[in-house]
Amino acid sequence: MKLRFLLFLVLLLPATCVAGVEDLFDIKPIADGVYAAIAKPAYKLNCNAAIIILGDGVLVVDTHSKPSAARALIEQIKKLTPKPVKFVVNTHFHWDHYQGNEAYPSSWPAGVEIISSEATRENIERIGIPRIKNEIVTMPQEIANLKKDLEKASSAEQKSAIQGNIRQAEAYFAELKLMQVTLPTMTFDRSLILRRGGRTVEILWLGRAHTDGDVFVFLPNEKVIVTGDALHGWTPFMGDSYPYDWIQTLDAAEKLDFNSVLGGHGDVMHGKLRFELWKSYFRDLMDRTAAVYAEGATLDEARKTVSDFLTKKYADKFDPNFPKSVTANVTKAYEVISFPR
Ligand SMILES: [Zn+2]
Repeated sequence: MKLRFLLFLVLLLPATCVAGVEDLFDIKPIADGVYAAIAKPAYKLNCNAAIIILGDGVLVVDTHSKPSAARALIEQIKKLTPKPVKFVVNTHFHWDHYQGNEAYPSSWPAGVEIISSEATRENIERIGIPRIKNEIVTMPQEIANLKKDLEKASSAEQKSAIQGNIRQAEAYFAELKLMQVTLPTMTFDRSLILRRGGRTVEILWLGRAHTDGDVFVFLPNEKVIVTGDALHGWTPFMGDSYPYDWIQTLDAAEKLDFNSVLGGHGDVMHGKLRFELWKSYFRDLMDRTAAVYAEGATLDEARKTVSDFLTKKYADKFDPNFPKSVTANVTKAYEVISFPR
């Protein structure tokens, strides 16, 4: 009787929660055996992943901000195919794209190759690891700030949203302290091409962009490109970027023949319009910042005037965070252009 009742309860569980693991991703087919895993919103964001089924295994692009998120995706992959994941690609070294790496070799100990550009592997070692250590030191303050926000919250809705964030922040912090940073096991300079079971997967470094190590994953037969954060559905983050190179790298990527585009964040895109938008945005950002700098504008003045101009021209074409992100982008542009004093 008791067992029956338990079974009944299990059947009542929503489809999004099987075996206690919540679906963190919406899986969308892009081509035959190729899927986009679109990350659902989270307090500590996850990036999207691409799931590419090969003849004898699976290739996954990017591993999110934590091993538990990668493990949640692995559960979703197992519903698509019984084949093991044999290859993981890290598009670049940012936390939300590689910190889940350890989940793959621990799920398939027989062997998973983690592939990245040589620059990305070096960046994880030199910059990624100190950033994780820094976050371990600073997270308690972040959680304390959330708790202060909770005290100030007035509506029940606000309170429950902040409580949800506190739960996620505490879980992330616990995971961060135990994280085994897992570096790429296979690196390359320009391109690495896998041919498996009739599928061709081109992993391409086309120049510096969002970082110096970004790679694109291109499926020439299916006309699909996975772009990491070199191009996505939100506003570009430019902190570690090379803005002038980025325009040229997008030009190079755009020359490939594809219809579907999966970026590191946001929904699946189609065609090349988003490439044109980002290039135009970067050109305006750099040209306008250079022009006001030439007239003697301070950083604060540039942030004001260039942000206003870009917000008027582009805000409706990007995500709602655009006005905030654009100010950081102007700061980056000003740093690139100005002579340091
Ligand atoms: Zn990202």
